[in-house]
Amino acid sequence: MAAAYPWLTPIWTRLLSMRQRLPHAVLLAGPQGVGKVELAKDWAKSLLCEKPGSDGEACGHCEGCHWFEAGTHPDFRHLTLIVKENREGEVKLATEISVEQAREAVEFVQLSTYRAGRRLVLVEPAEALNTASANALLKVLEEPPINTVFALVSHQPRQLLPTLLSRCHKLVIGLPAWEDSEKWLKSQGLDETALAWAGGAPLTAVADREEGQEDLRAEVLKALSQGKDLDAVALAENWYRRVPPKLWHRMTYRWLLDLLASHLGGKVRFNPDFSTELARLGKQAKRPDLLNLAQEDMKSGRWVDHPLNRQHVLEAWLTGYRQVF
Ligand SMILES: [Zn+2]
Repeated sequence: MAAAYPWLTPIWTRLLSMRQRLPHAVLLAGPQGVGKVELAKDWAKSLLCEKPGSDGEACGHCEGCHWFEAGTHPDFRHLTLIVKENREGEVKLATEISVEQAREAVEFVQLSTYRAGRRLVLVEPAEALNTASANALLKVLEEPPINTVFALVSHQPRQLLPTLLSRCHKLVIGLPAWEDSEKWLKSQGLDETALAWAGGAPLTAVADREEGQEDLRAEVLKALSQGKDLDAVALAENWYRRVPPKLWHRMTYRWLLDLLASHLGGKVRFNPDFSTELARLGKQAKRPDLLNLAQEDMKSGRWVDHPLNRQHVLEAWLTGYRQVF
């Protein structure tokens, strides 16, 4: 079994070579959309395999491998964000890994193993642990039971508690080389524009396509290309139900970063397909107003999911945007 994606081959080899002297906890850290979770799962499978190859890879045929593939290996736990129903009856993905989940994992590692081999707990994204759940896990990370391995995956390792970080063997997985991602994406029927919009993360480009974002993005960016001539009221009314908050934030923030780059005579990074429009707008932009709006956008990213009056938020943003020119 090779690495899940070609750019992961070096780190995959490194993980396999750690088999002889396994750390208690490994942290796979790096940007989203590069395959860290798949990598962690493949590694878990190789560690739970009962007849691994001489290179440490999972055999794919033993009982351990079958259990793992079926998602029912009794010595594996996956601690992640769960889908819950809130008080209003809406089904939503939780924003945190709860202390109850962490406690259940702690109990799990204190039992004896079912298959008399290793036991592995995958925690992802680790930044979703809140203080209580992180502290619950810390107790077992400090003195882990024998044969127990924790694999943590984090897209934002700087948000992790220092005490948690210090217990982990950290492996950094950066963005793949641009050419490698481009080549692989081509085999998936995607081009450089998709890669740029995904910030250089190939799996994000694939996820974007699955979410069908292209049309909405083109529509919004075309309107933003109008600069001071856009109609803030009409656009806000048109978009506030149709454009999901996260996508809106991603589009506007990246647009502003590109606009800033263009204004300063640099190269646009996220929206090369709009570079002509960005070059024109960059010349018209007033620097202090542009910087202000970009800074506000960066801060507001934290509250993207909060139930504010969406139409009003969009209208205010668009009005502020018009005033940049
Ligand atoms: Zn196996």
